[in-house]
Amino acid sequence: MIDAAEAIHSLLSASQRVLLISHVAPDGDAIGSMLGLKWLLEAQGRAVVAANQDGVPYLLRSDQVAPGWQSVVHAPVKPRRPGRGYDLVITLDCSDMQRLGKTYSPSLAHAPLVNIDHHITNLGFGAFNLVDPAASSTAEIVVRLAEALAWPIGPEAAQCLLTGIVTDTQSFRVGNVTPALLGMAQRLMESGASLQAVNEGVLDRRNVDTICLWGQALNALHLEERIIWTAIPLAMRGRCQGVEQSDSGLANFMAGAEEADVAVILTEREDGLVDVGMRAAAGFDVAQVALALGGGGHPRAAGCSLRLPLEQAVQHVLGALKGALAEQRRANAAVEGQR
Ligand code: 5GP
Ligand code: MN
Repeated sequence: MIDAAEAIHSLLSASQRVLLISHVAPDGDAIGSMLGLKWLLEAQGRAVVAANQDGVPYLLRSDQVAPGWQSVVHAPVKPRRPGRGYDLVITLDCSDMQRLGKTYSPSLAHAPLVNIDHHITNLGFGAFNLVDPAASSTAEIVVRLAEALAWPIGPEAAQCLLTGIVTDTQSFRVGNVTPALLGMAQRLMESGASLQAVNEGVLDRRNVDTICLWGQALNALHLEERIIWTAIPLAMRGRCQGVEQSDSGLANFMAGAEEADVAVILTEREDGLVDVGMRAAAGFDVAQVALALGGGGHPRAAGCSLRLPLEQAVQHVLGALKGALAEQRRANAAVEGQR
């Protein structure tokens, strides 16, 4: 970690104009890690632009949870005037370059690309990769970087980074929450960040259209070979206009089903793609299935997008999952047998 921090430090020392990019359909960690790093770099005297293809989701458009959210650029980023281009591009929470969406263009390729991420499926696409699948969140890696470099963390940076950590861990409820992470969260709170603001303002908050869509999606549940799944066709979404792409609350809720090892939501999009969100119970892994389907993620939370009609996407994903789960159950049973 120190070596990685040192290598990034020398890149940063040589850079004046830095472009930060996080993933399409951003979540709290995408926005929080990006804005947190923006505040930190600006405090070091750098000129920073933070960009995201899809802008900031409505729950994060709040000074309480994501101070500086108004500064996020969501048009495709063009290089500045000749001679004034970015001299460093940093991607956050992106496991592959597709996740950058339209924000990244080949005209940015003159600048070194630093890839900061915590997905186990990260493809290592940067010139420099700071990737730690054991980290709870990309925000955690940014805090470690700041602390290794002895950068002060002001209240705004602290809030953005705590938002990233808390949203990705569902408020410290998942497996990669360590004593070290709790200590880090304590330091961020001591720097002025509010934990309650993230719990109440992001994790526990959603609009009525979203609740209405959950109702319809839950009405259409299927349970098949310990896979709990539902599909959301465009027509279902059409009755709930205020729903944004990045709501993962329903998938997390379905993942609690006792009778299932995996939960899946397939959402039809207007551009012809189907978004697939998957969750796995302890002892199961959906990251490799997602990677094989062109996406990525973590062992217990992963996703992909498929260019298929919804019905075919359902069959394709269920087929892939049934095969992978059968293999994982055999492997789990073999381990049990050895005990
Ligand atoms: P969610 O279901 O909450 O949208 O995503 C769960 C996890 O899978 C997140 O870590 C997210 O970054 C990752 N993920 C979701 N969709 C995609 C995708 O299309 N491509 C990649 N590489 N990762 C994805
Ligand atoms: Mn993340």
